[in-house]
Amino acid sequence: MAEEPCQCSDCQRFYKEHDRLIREFPTFKQQQELNWASIQSFRTLCTKITDDLQRELSERESNEDNILKENHISDKEITEALNELESVNAYLYSIEALMERIFETKISNNIESKFKELANELAPDPLNIDRLILNRLFHQTPDSPDKKNIN
Ligand SMILES: [Zn+2]
Repeated sequence: MAEEPCQCSDCQRFYKEHDRLIREFPTFKQQQELNWASIQSFRTLCTKITDDLQRELSERESNEDNILKENHISDKEITEALNELESVNAYLYSIEALMERIFETKISNNIESKFKELANELAPDPLNIDRLILNRLFHQTPDSPDKKNIN
């Protein structure tokens, strides 16, 4: 029995982005590079924020005058964020190690052509019926975005 794909704004945004990434990066090599760059940029940003928050926290601890200033972010907020970001950075590091293995894989030109061909079928123009079917398939996967990020 067919289930209607969820059409909430989060899911729609996900479907759209998912299809765009297939359409714009239709080869194995492009997906390798895209995902590698994506993990790296996420890690770079998280590491930078972590360093900055740690520096701010230690400056506050060593400088009593800061207590008199109006702190935009509370110490508690910084400490909590640092704990979260520490876990995220560890996960990203693990993902990067796995991505490295994927990055080493080489695909022949004939297989790359197959990737392009099927990418066209998977992610045609946004209002195509295939897209709606695909959206439904993704909605049924246990890690669809509307089931995560619920705090
Ligand atoms: Zn939804």
